[in-house]
Order: sequence, then structure tokens, then C-alpha cells
Amino acid sequence: MSVNENLQKVLDTLPSHVKLVAVSKTKPEAMIMEAYQFGQRLFGENKVQELMAKQLALPADIEWHFIGHLQSNKVKYIAPFVAMIHAVDSLKLLKTIDREGAKNHRVINCLLQFYIADEETKFGLNMEEAIALLESADYASMKHVRLCGVMGMATFTSNSEQLSHEFKTLNNIFQELKNRYFHEDQFFSEISMGMSDDYLIALAQGSTMVRIGSTIFGERKYNHST
Ligand SMILES: *Cc1c(COP(=O)(O)O)cnc(C)c1O
Repeated sequence: MSVNENLQKVLDTLPSHVKLVAVSKTKPEAMIMEAYQFGQRLFGENKVQELMAKQLALPADIEWHFIGHLQSNKVKYIAPFVAMIHAVDSLKLLKTIDREGAKNHRVINCLLQFYIADEETKFGLNMEEAIALLESADYASMKHVRLCGVMGMATFTSNSEQLSHEFKTLNNIFQELKNRYFHEDQFFSEISMGMSDDYLIALAQGSTMVRIGSTIFGERKYNHST
């Protein structure tokens, strides 16, 4: 199967309001170009160095989403161009993004990452931490970040009931934050959840943005999730 065929297959399963982030990490530029020529514009990467190199080499109208764990000291490298940062998991990181956004005269779209998995290794906030962040004076003063919703990664399991439950939890978190803090804010609208193996379950639980890599580009040789 070619990238185009895989991409079309995935697109056929997505409702029209759901955005597809094609996760191109570890994959060569030629493969990204195949998807690009097919019309795909949103791509996801999880390593700063790799994203910088690809951004430089590939068409300027690609919207690059940073989907991995981001260290504060690396924000400056992607701040000039990144379309969305999916995994904001601390006030410290958000403050850095705001500062780098200011330096670049732009407002950077971000998602708050929540911890929904039953695993030690996954990053993310819990509700209490998110509330503390959203009610902080620091957040109130930020002018160069825009919170567009939430993101989460489910447990690595084939138990569809568990996956369903975890995605539902993230949807509930989104609704609660929306009602409490973003009622009037049209931008706070995204629930980024679902990967190759679980995105159909995520869609059923209200995902608005899926992040799909291996189903489109093939298996990766190495498979760091962060
Ligand atoms: C790698 C990755 C994906 C895509 O994973 P696939 O199983 O290849 O679809 C999605 N989200 C994040 C955060 C990732 O790191």
C-alpha cells in the first residue's frame, strides 16, 4: 500500500469535522511530500531537531504540530513556526511558550495534556493541576499563547473498554474546562486523542483531532512514544 492509499483509507473513516494530524516522526521527507501532494497539510513530529530540519526542507504551508514531550529549553527552536503544541503539561512550559511567542510576535496554539492512562510513563496534568494553572495570575497575564483544548494518550492496551473509558474521561475533562473557563471562547474546541490502533474508539468518544502515524506511513523502526 502507498502513503496515498493509506491516507485515503484513514480519511474515509473520519467525520468531516475531525482533523487529521499525520504523524511523520522518523519518516523521510519524500514520504511527507507524498502525503502533501495528496493534499495533507497537518503533520505531527515529536523531536525538536527532526522537526526543525523537516520544516526547513519542506513546503512553508505545512502546519507542523509538535505532539511530543517538550522541554522548556527547546521551545525557542520551534516557536517561530509551530502551528500547535499538543503536550503542554506544566505552567512553566506554558510560560516559556508565551515568552517565545512574544519574541516571535505570534500567538502559539496549545493543548493541555492530561494524564488519562493507567501507566507510569505517560506525561500530563490532572484536573487539580490544570485548575491551578488556569486560575494562576501567570496564565491570566499571557498574551502569546492560545489554549485550544486538551490532549491525551491512552494506555497501551487492546482492551477496548478501558480505552473507551480513558477517552471518555478526557472528553469529560474538556467539557468541564469548557464550561468553567472557556464558555465564551470559540478557540477552545479541540480534543486531541486517538492514534493508529485506537482512533476509532477515540472518535466514538468525541475526538476532534486524531494523530495517526504508522497506519499512514508504515511501522517505525524505533517507537519512542515521547
Ligand atoms: C507517535 C505518536 C502518535 C502516532 O502513533 P501511531 O501509533 O504510529 O499512529 C500519536 N501521538 C503521539 C503523541 C505520538 O508520539
